[in-house]
Amino acid sequence: MPIDLRSDTVTKPTAEMRKAMYDAEVGDDVFGDDPTVNRLEETAAEMLGKEAALYVSSGTLGNQIAIQTLTRPGDEIILEQQSHIYLYEGAGHAVYAGVQTQTLPGVRGAMSLADVREAIREPNIHHPRTGLICVENTHNKAGGTILGLDHLRELASIAHEHQIPIHMDGARLFNAVVASGHKAPAFTQHVDTVQVCLSKGLSAPVGSILAGSQEVIERARYIRKRMGGGMRQVGVIAAPALIALTQMVERLAEDHQNAKILATGLAEIDSVQLDVSTVETNIVIIDVTKTGISSVELVDRLRTEGVWCADFGPGLVRFVTHKDVDRAQVQEALAIIHRVVRGVA
Ligand SMILES: *Cc1c(COP(=O)(O)O)cnc(C)c1O
Repeated sequence: MPIDLRSDTVTKPTAEMRKAMYDAEVGDDVFGDDPTVNRLEETAAEMLGKEAALYVSSGTLGNQIAIQTLTRPGDEIILEQQSHIYLYEGAGHAVYAGVQTQTLPGVRGAMSLADVREAIREPNIHHPRTGLICVENTHNKAGGTILGLDHLRELASIAHEHQIPIHMDGARLFNAVVASGHKAPAFTQHVDTVQVCLSKGLSAPVGSILAGSQEVIERARYIRKRMGGGMRQVGVIAAPALIALTQMVERLAEDHQNAKILATGLAEIDSVQLDVSTVETNIVIIDVTKTGISSVELVDRLRTEGVWCADFGPGLVRFVTHKDVDRAQVQEALAIIHRVVRGVA
């Protein structure tokens, strides 16, 4: 059996989730009468400290609906330059919302407040309107780093000054919650909308939540339908999603411990570059430029040895810990990686 550290999206639903799927009470969710979906949305809204929530089929769809809900065509949105929305969503913001982007560099995933202030457009006949600021928490490309509460508070105060909404791509927000010890609303109180993936570390088979005010979610529901994202007897997948939300959050702490162990072991390899202190949650990104082979080649070699990981751009390899890789497998993976990298030298 391979040790699959490519992503936390590979997590399989638990036996309890599968049973809940079988037993799920269902209705037609487009008519608003799937009781399981309704329960999921109410529970999610409460956990995220928002008035309302919407169950969507993916994190990408949740982010894209949020952008369409909060902007007008011709607006500009401010994004961190390594963010998922900017890099990995097929420019959906340009296609569906008709907005252009202004990207800013981040430090551990956080844009500088001075840069954001400067990036906000003054009203002028030549300028697009700054319609939205997006943040990502935890930040995937930065290695699962957490955007702190002080940073979010100050960012929100700048945004409010200019009456610009903030969307949080919180695909892994609950990793930030568990690692920091702060409750989800401590983070989400500073943003207008938040998207949370249930299909990553939380191990649901399908879906994400988009949460916000009643008014915003009502419009988001309309946009979801327009995009073809309205689903029918969807209680069968909302049931495991509800288990993800109510029973799988605390478990993320194990993933964080395993990531620390993995990171500490990887940092012992001379040719591997990694600052272990940047590993705050379940993502470990190493720089392999000094190993003598490319990240693509290293990922290939590890795969033949039974350790699956992801090429993450030139010289970078990403490992993500999750429910279906236990402590012993992390140790085994480390031994294999040590052997493979030493074999190259
Ligand atoms: C995975 C991910 C998404 C998108 O989720 P999908 O369900 O794969 O569409 C969005 N943002 C971040 C930061 C992610 O890691």
